[in-house]
Amino acid sequence: MSGTVIIGTGQAGVECAFALRSRGYDGAITLVGDDPDLPYQRPPLSKEVLKSRGASGWMPLRGAPLYPAQRVDLRLGVRADRILRSERRVILSDGGDLGFEHLILATGARNRIPAIAGLATLGAQGLRNAADARALVTALEGATQVAILGAGFIGLETAAALFDSRCTVTVFESGSRVMGRAVSPEVSDWFLRFHRHRGTRITLGATIAAAEPGMLTLGNGDRCGFDVLLIAAGVQPDVGLAAQAGLSVSNGIETDALHRTSDPRIFSIGDCALAPHPFHAGPVRLESVANAAEQGRRVAAVLAGQAVPGQTVPWFWSTQGSARLQIAGLGAPGDDTHLAGDLSDISDDASLVARRYRNGQCVAVETVNAAPIHMEARRTLLPATSGPRSRTPTPDA
Ligand SMILES: Cc1cc2nc3c(=O)[nH]c(=O)nc-3n(C[C@H](O)[C@H](O)[C@H](O)COP(=O)(O)OP(=O)(O)OC[C@H]3O[C@@H](n4cnc5c(N)ncnc54)[C@H](O)[C@@H]3O)c2cc1C
Repeated sequence: MSGTVIIGTGQAGVECAFALRSRGYDGAITLVGDDPDLPYQRPPLSKEVLKSRGASGWMPLRGAPLYPAQRVDLRLGVRADRILRSERRVILSDGGDLGFEHLILATGARNRIPAIAGLATLGAQGLRNAADARALVTALEGATQVAILGAGFIGLETAAALFDSRCTVTVFESGSRVMGRAVSPEVSDWFLRFHRHRGTRITLGATIAAAEPGMLTLGNGDRCGFDVLLIAAGVQPDVGLAAQAGLSVSNGIETDALHRTSDPRIFSIGDCALAPHPFHAGPVRLESVANAAEQGRRVAAVLAGQAVPGQTVPWFWSTQGSARLQIAGLGAPGDDTHLAGDLSDISDDASLVARRYRNGQCVAVETVNAAPIHMEARRTLLPATSGPRSRTPTPDA
């Protein structure tokens, strides 16, 4: 029994496969994914792909010829159904099975469907994969009313992709802020005004009582018609395969600092993995391209028997119209925010910097259209638990 099997053809799985080869790993590598498309980047799906109505923005993670060239056995449209840990075998949906020496679970996350009467039977649209994006592009043809459930990154990026369209876009957010989990109240408020100024209707604290074809009924009795309904209410980690195999799972597949699950032959990386991180007090599950790629490279180093690169400052981005939001570090509710820039400027040329402080230490920097400051923060932020203060100066330092 030899070789490495990777489940999941997203950012984490693909990065890991190629990093293994670039580190000289010589064993068999099999990359299994239930998505039938050649592995691709997800970020453009809610940005360029929607804005261009599918005409551009589709970006493969690697060119098709590179998989055989690097001896990565790519199995697309195949689901891993079961892991037989004692036999070190994975049972596949195509009737086959794969033996492994090491197994890497890079199963990502799935859209969360809110519990709203009628929603499940509506066949409402999410936006997680290329098939979702193609379906959304088709649904948008001729649409004039778009309703979006959720004002997180995906919901707002979709709304922004429709800024200059003939669609009336209404976003319903159950929380009291847009991107409430991701950014400071100040930056959240800036984006709320930025969107509203460009025509996006945003209802905060919204409850949806029922969904039926073409119509939403709110908790207060208001009704909202739609041609297209997008569910953008966040994701949940895909832990089903790991749980079936008896691995420790909670809000993700639990791993140690080297991404090993409770079975030392099985690793987990990317959106599905709950791992210790020096920039977070306890284990954390990060949903970002940067994290998925970094964890993929780290596991490759572990399996190649080489020094494992350290974990870097977590970072995220979101592009909404002319506003490029970049976040370095991990903020939390209760952090103090120090702003630089004019909060009242919501023009296309606006620029904003929000530094978030905890116990006097800068723990996160949020920027809008200020890439050099974002890059500096990624170089200079230090873990909150490490004792020394961040080299990012306080405003009055
Ligand atoms: C529309 C969109 C826009 C985004 N924009 C940004 C952005 O601007 N910036 C940013 O940093 N991040 C962004 N993200 C998030 C980022 O794309 C993810 O964090 C990243 O792709 C996670 O990669 P992953 O490999 O961990 O998981 P995924 O990309 O989810 O890949 C997991 C794969 O595993 C497959 N799978 C699951 N179970 C099985 C099984 N049993 N057998 C076989 N296959 C299985 C899944 O179908 C999936 O294809 C965006 C995500 C989406 C959906």
